[in-house]
Amino acid sequence: MAAKTYAMPTAVAEHARLSPASYQEKYAASIADPEAFWREEGKRINWFSPYSKVKETSYAPGNVNIRWFSDGTLNACYNCVDRHLPKRADKTAIIWEGDEVDVQKHVTFRELHEHVARFANGLKKLGVGKGDRVAIYMPMVPEAAYAMLACARIGAVHSVIFGGFSPNAIADRVNDCEAKVVITANEGRRGGKAVPLKPNVDKALSKGACPTVDHVVILKHTDTDYELEAPRDVWWHELIGDCDTDCSPEVMNAEDPLFILYTSGSTGKPKGVVHTTGGYMVYASMTHEYAFDIREDDVYWCAADVGWITGHSYIVYGPLANGTTTLMFEGVPTYPDVSRIGKVVDKHQVNILYTAPTAIRALMAKGTAAAKGSTRESLRILGSVGEPINPEAWEWYYNHIGNSQCPVIDTFWQTETGGILIAPFPAATDMKPGSAMLPFFGIKPKLVDNEGHPLEGATEGNLIIEDSWPGQARTLWGDHERFEQTYFSTYKNVYFTGDGARRDEDGHFWITGRVDDVLNVSGHRLGTAEIESALVAHEVVAEAAVVGYPHDLKGQGIYVYVTVVDGVNATDELRVELVKWVRSELSPIATPDFIQWAPGLPKTRSGKIMRRILRKIACNEHSNLGDTSTLADPSVVDSLIENRLNR
Ligand code: ATP
Ligand code: MG
Repeated sequence: MAAKTYAMPTAVAEHARLSPASYQEKYAASIADPEAFWREEGKRINWFSPYSKVKETSYAPGNVNIRWFSDGTLNACYNCVDRHLPKRADKTAIIWEGDEVDVQKHVTFRELHEHVARFANGLKKLGVGKGDRVAIYMPMVPEAAYAMLACARIGAVHSVIFGGFSPNAIADRVNDCEAKVVITANEGRRGGKAVPLKPNVDKALSKGACPTVDHVVILKHTDTDYELEAPRDVWWHELIGDCDTDCSPEVMNAEDPLFILYTSGSTGKPKGVVHTTGGYMVYASMTHEYAFDIREDDVYWCAADVGWITGHSYIVYGPLANGTTTLMFEGVPTYPDVSRIGKVVDKHQVNILYTAPTAIRALMAKGTAAAKGSTRESLRILGSVGEPINPEAWEWYYNHIGNSQCPVIDTFWQTETGGILIAPFPAATDMKPGSAMLPFFGIKPKLVDNEGHPLEGATEGNLIIEDSWPGQARTLWGDHERFEQTYFSTYKNVYFTGDGARRDEDGHFWITGRVDDVLNVSGHRLGTAEIESALVAHEVVAEAAVVGYPHDLKGQGIYVYVTVVDGVNATDELRVELVKWVRSELSPIATPDFIQWAPGLPKTRSGKIMRRILRKIACNEHSNLGDTSTLADPSVVDSLIENRLNR
């Protein structure tokens, strides 16, 4: 089945940084001589002392060692803030849109500098210095960015913990990185409800559970009062009360850690991914500029949370390094109703919107209500990240949010990659709904079979990246062995993404899902993503998740969880119809063996379906579900197990 192709809209293509020819030329140069390519591109960042070395990387078994620009010195905060003061002091750096519709704030680069420098001095007063770890457990407020940048300014290593995590998850992460200080708020707000942040930190730290923590800094974000525990706790505003705005940025080596970020945990125990300063800043800023074709006057909105890598690279470091106005949204796309995203776009005249398939599907489940009450005419570019985007969701996003005028930039990348690896960079290529399309400069994606043999041409296999790029993670905090084991041991001398992909006749990449989730049905490889997309394309299906289970004849059988759209009855006739539908939409090989109705699917806090758990339920192994601490709503699992037993 030939994929549907969409041309880059002319309005975008005409002014875009790239054309198909210039992309090809620049890509070829980046591959032919990475050293020369990155020596030049590294200059997009301000260095205190320039680098002479560029690429010193080895994936050799037992000796994985990744260094970029290793003798250069710089400061990430300086690059995001100070360097813009000569020309952009009065430009808005951050637009904040609160949870409630009429709450917002604008922060200029000058103000950003003051807030960050003052808070950095506050951290110093608490004894935080270069190399110390600081945990940040904050709502989506500008102060979360101030806290990250303040750490970077004084050389402390931040570890942001998503504000939806439970006390146990906080304690695990704080202890793993031995944080000295935790920065939080009394409360956050999300979807009209209060989120008890400070009480969660108290629970995490109770009974000496986190012995490394000396202080907790608390932002007074709402009116709710909590008792402080002296001398451990200190209010943010009291801490900075007597601090001045003069704080010279620490001189950091390119390879000094900038942050630790724990992965979302959809496949197992969260890993403390370590990113360093120089290469990360070069890669985050460059990919941000190219993926979204950034213009000086753009208002750019990444609707992720700063608790995820997307928030690090594409709410804070990438955009601010580029001097771009970045919008931070405290709320959720469905509050007060599904028209919120469009209304925020209109209100702030947003030009670029970057969100996740899970959010898009949540809006799509309500038909076209999300498009009501807004024109979204300011939009130029749409982005997607986090999971494969089903073609159905792609088209809905393109038509109903983007008015059929904005390209959908489907960006494939990972916490470990620091920035985008594969995407239809405007206007390097046409777009195919469901395909991430082409590699960024310097990225060499290849497909291999299970033994690691290279696969050529139009085919499907395990996605590896040959060679290194500057934004790549350097290690896992305190566990370099696990780093090597996880990413460099399955296949020798390459980086293994853990994802499967298909390459079509035109050389475009389609991510088929995690390799663990790729099914082998009667000898045929089937990506869960493809089957799910076929299901979501049916008008009554809001969401679907597909896993394999042992099947006597086929090797693996296809077990499907389906959430129907509001108001539809989940009947046996509908089951039969959906089975027929998948057979005709995709292939008889993909015939579901069993369809279980799911009122909800187990998702990580970042909105990804946890197939690992669904697999266990399908295989009747639900007594042993493993780490579920990162689940958004654990009760979903109980109801699925109950259903399964009753089937
Ligand atoms: P863990 O590694 O702890 O299981 P995680 O992999 O979910 O967590 P992230 O680094 O946030 O944590 O997610 C990266 C993964 O998300 C990728 O490996 C891929 O499976 C998926 N992904 C991200 N973007 C896309 C995309 N545009 N298309 C397809 N898959 C994507
Ligand atoms: Mg992962």
